Amino acid sequence: MLDIKNIHASINGKEVLKGLNLTFRPGEVHAIMGPNGSGKSTLAKVVAGHPEYQVTEGEIEYEVNFRKKDLKAMEAYERAREGIFLAFQYPVEVPGVSNIHLLHSAFNMVCKHQGVEEMSQGEFRKFIEKKCEMLELKPQFLDRSVNEGFSGGEKKKNEILQMAVLNPRVAVLDETDSGLDIDALKIVAGGINRLKNQENCIVLITHYQRLLQYVVPDYVHILSDGKIIKTGDKALALKLEEEGYDWLIKS
Ligand code: ADP
Ligand code: MG
Repeated sequence: MLDIKNIHASINGKEVLKGLNLTFRPGEVHAIMGPNGSGKSTLAKVVAGHPEYQVTEGEIEYEVNFRKKDLKAMEAYERAREGIFLAFQYPVEVPGVSNIHLLHSAFNMVCKHQGVEEMSQGEFRKFIEKKCEMLELKPQFLDRSVNEGFSGGEKKKNEILQMAVLNPRVAVLDETDSGLDIDALKIVAGGINRLKNQENCIVLITHYQRLLQYVVPDYVHILSDGKIIKTGDKALALKLEEEGYDWLIKS
C-alpha cells in the first residue's frame, strides 16, 4: 500500500534520511525503533508531507483502490484526505479552535472527498462521544481548545481520537506511548487495536517495547542514522530493550 524507496530527505540543509526503504501492506502493524536523532520523526513527517522537509531522492508510492499515486507530489492535506494520518510526537496547541470543531471539519472534509455523506453537528457529537468513551475522555474535553492545557496523556489520547475520526489507511503514530502511565497506555493501546483492521496499516514509532506488548507488531525495524539497519519481529524489540542499540550499530 505504501512503498518507500531509497528516500533521502533533508531539513534546513541537513540530510537526515539517507536511503531509507520500507514497505507497508494492508493489515500490518510495523514498529520503528531507533536511537534519538536517528530520523524517526523525520520519516513520519516526510510521509505526512510536512512542507519544511525536502525529499531530495527516492520515491514514495501509495496505492489506493488499485490506483498508484506519487505521494511526494501531494500536499499534506491531500495526503490526509487520501488516508495518510500522523499522530505527532509533540501535539500542537491551537488556542481558540474548539476540539470538536476541528474534528468535525476534518471528518467532513474526508467524507466529502471520499464521496460519503457528511454529518450534521448533532450527529457528529453523538458519534464522537462514543469514541471519547472508548478512550475514557470526558465529553467536556470536546469543547476545549485543541490541546490547550491538556495533560500529556490527554494530548496523546486526542491524537488517537483524531485517528478514530479520520479512519486512515496508513496511520503513523510518533511516540504516542511516551509519557503515558500504565492505565493510559492500556487505553491508548486498546484504541489502536480497535482501529486496526485488514484494510489499514499501523506504524508505531516507539522507544519502548511495553506498547508492543499490547499492540503486537508484525515487523520491527531499527532506524539508525537515516537508514533501516535491521528488520525483525517482536522479539527484536525485546532484545533491544535488554541490550540497547550498540550491538547493532557497531556490527
Ligand atoms: P528522532 O525522531 O529519531 O529522535 P528526528 O527525526 O527528530 O529524530 O531528528 C533527526 C535529526 O534531524 C536530528 O539530528 C535533529 O537534530 C535533526 N533535525 C530535526 N528537525 C530539525 C530542524 N528543524 N532543523 C535542523 N535539524 C533538525
Ligand atoms: Mg522523534
